[in-house]
Amino acid sequence: MTAGKVWLVGAGPGDAGLLTLRGREVMEQADAIVFDRLVGDGVLAMMPEHAEKINVGKEGGRHPVPQREIEKILVAKALEGKKVVRLKGGDPFVFGRGGEEIEALKKENIEFEVVPGVTSAIAAPSAAGIPVTHRGLAASLHIITAHTKEGGIADTDYAALARLGGTLLFLMGASALPEICAALTKAGMSPDTPAAAVERGTTARQRRIEGTLATLTEIAARAELRSPAVIIVGAVAALGKEFEWKKFLPLSGRKLIVTRPRGRAGKLSAKLRAKGAEVVECPCISTRALDVKLPPLSGYSWIGFTSATGVETFFELLAKEGRDVRETGGAKIAAIGKATAEALRARGLAVDYVPEVYDGASLADGLAPLAAGGKILMLRAKDGSPELTEHLRAAGADFTEFALYETTYEKPAALPEDADAALFTSASTVRGFVAAFGGPVVKTACCIGRQTAEEAARHGFEEIRTAAKATLDSLIKTLEVDER
Ligand code: SAH
Repeated sequence: MTAGKVWLVGAGPGDAGLLTLRGREVMEQADAIVFDRLVGDGVLAMMPEHAEKINVGKEGGRHPVPQREIEKILVAKALEGKKVVRLKGGDPFVFGRGGEEIEALKKENIEFEVVPGVTSAIAAPSAAGIPVTHRGLAASLHIITAHTKEGGIADTDYAALARLGGTLLFLMGASALPEICAALTKAGMSPDTPAAAVERGTTARQRRIEGTLATLTEIAARAELRSPAVIIVGAVAALGKEFEWKKFLPLSGRKLIVTRPRGRAGKLSAKLRAKGAEVVECPCISTRALDVKLPPLSGYSWIGFTSATGVETFFELLAKEGRDVRETGGAKIAAIGKATAEALRARGLAVDYVPEVYDGASLADGLAPLAAGGKILMLRAKDGSPELTEHLRAAGADFTEFALYETTYEKPAALPEDADAALFTSASTVRGFVAAFGGPVVKTACCIGRQTAEEAARHGFEEIRTAAKATLDSLIKTLEVDER
């Protein structure tokens, strides 16, 4: 048996966009992933389906797995020959006990690698507009733990810290905040020294509070500051108001679930992130080309496509059979909507008809009169919406339906507990979501069109929002109407 290997991977401070490329690459090839409580939901959701997932963080009141136990798990999995990823919040070596794990691995001669991560000590303040250094204000930064190994308050030399004049960053300090402020004041720092705390930095739930060494304790109590938080002491702590940027983005503070299939989610997720949302990709369906031979393509006056996946699968099958798109001869091309039309154009096929409303019924109603006297070939998904064929039939169209691919449900790696909304781009994503999570587990369903919304209503989502037009931008607009 080949020996396994362990990668200590920094997952970053929360936002999935702050996981490194190397971290993601390593995760994708892992056989087992051992993860902590502070790893962001968006990162957890990236864990590949094939990997064994071991949660060693605190969950539902249970205590976290003790450090020695975690080390035993890493060693045991690696000795089984597995590729093991040890996924930790922030950077593995910043109060992450990465060194202890390496010591345990070395004892057993297990190969290891460290993938650095973006540490919350710097990223949480910066996401809240606090630069940890600033010309003229702070020439050094110091990262300090407020807790000892045994869980008590750290025995810190506050007098030394007070003399440094740099930015002080306390981790694990949310509950020790009063002691920290008092000790620094007692050690000689001015009570007017700016101080701030950033809770759950880089996530949708990020909060910043600010004051001075004299006032922050009271402010934190009133705001009910909770862990995880970084406490910032020093002149830069006053800059947040001036430099903050995140809260001005239109979707800041929203945690959203994207349910599109793997490999199709990117564009929607990127648009949402650009508007400030925290995005968790939970692919609820996947599509697979059917093992079929394409029918003869000549003799039709119209060929219709109902999704970009359909277009891609069509070309995939065509290539596999060594056939040529010119077989379609003079047939005109219809597409259900914008994305489908774009997929066709990208492959050099001009689109002759796209309905005003992007759904099956509208495609059928618009196409039937155009194709009168000729034959239509509809290339689509197996078990697609029956509305399309019902309307074609009702309009007396002469059509053939051919299934290119099928949709199957997926089980996403993780479900975020506190998401604000899920976005659905088809009725099948709604069904996949409900199948994966056992019900309408988020309050709001944002749906790309009427059929999708009807499916969401059938499954009992509390609030359903429907895009005015079946486009991603229009879908995103349904989220921007909130008065939050
Ligand atoms: N290795 C981690 C730190 C682990 S210690 C890193 O490099 O970030 C755990 C502490 O990190 C928490 O108590 C808190 O102080 C801080 N922390 C982690 N994630 C945070 C976040 N998103 N926002 C604010 N503080 C965070």
